[in-house]
Amino acid sequence: MKTEQIVAEIVKAGAFKAAPIEQESYVLDRSFRDICASNGCGTYDKCWTCPPCIGDIDELIARVNTFPHGVLYQTVGEIEDSYDFEGMMEVGEKHARLGQEIQAKVVAKIPGRTLHLSCGGCHLCPECAKRVDEPCRHPDLALAPMEGYGFDVYNTAKATPLKYVNGTNTVTYFGIVLFDSAE
Ligand code: SF4
Repeated sequence: MKTEQIVAEIVKAGAFKAAPIEQESYVLDRSFRDICASNGCGTYDKCWTCPPCIGDIDELIARVNTFPHGVLYQTVGEIEDSYDFEGMMEVGEKHARLGQEIQAKVVAKIPGRTLHLSCGGCHLCPECAKRVDEPCRHPDLALAPMEGYGFDVYNTAKATPLKYVNGTNTVTYFGIVLFDSAE
């Protein structure tokens, strides 16, 4: 599967935009773990796909850097204003559904190793099993957030045509599919 085909299929699955990115353009910074630990989103240590549950930041950054190729993608949705938390959650859930669609219809067809990262906490269950100290209910489907693996999404996106901000009263969420070979 060639990179252009992966890009096209991710857009066909419902992404607003998608673009190829190479390993030298990944911007990774271990300080993102401190931002996660500040728990602004409320999922730190409350979701199996979020820090600290996903593991040591330096090991995750090293893992990301083993993948030479990637495709960055995004969901853009409208919100009423910058205080529309409910609207942001709705777009976040739409992005989570897109991630599952991409996982099933695109990532499953890429030969070799892959790593698919999304954004924010896993939205698969109404309440993550971590909150009740039970094992993850869907370990094969749950996607970890880019930031949890140390991605500086704002600066990583600069290497692509994807804009970090897409207009007044919109919210944008990113995901990335990393892979070994695009043959
Ligand atoms: S699949 Fe469910 S239990 Fe597993 S990380 Fe996602 S929300 Fe939590």
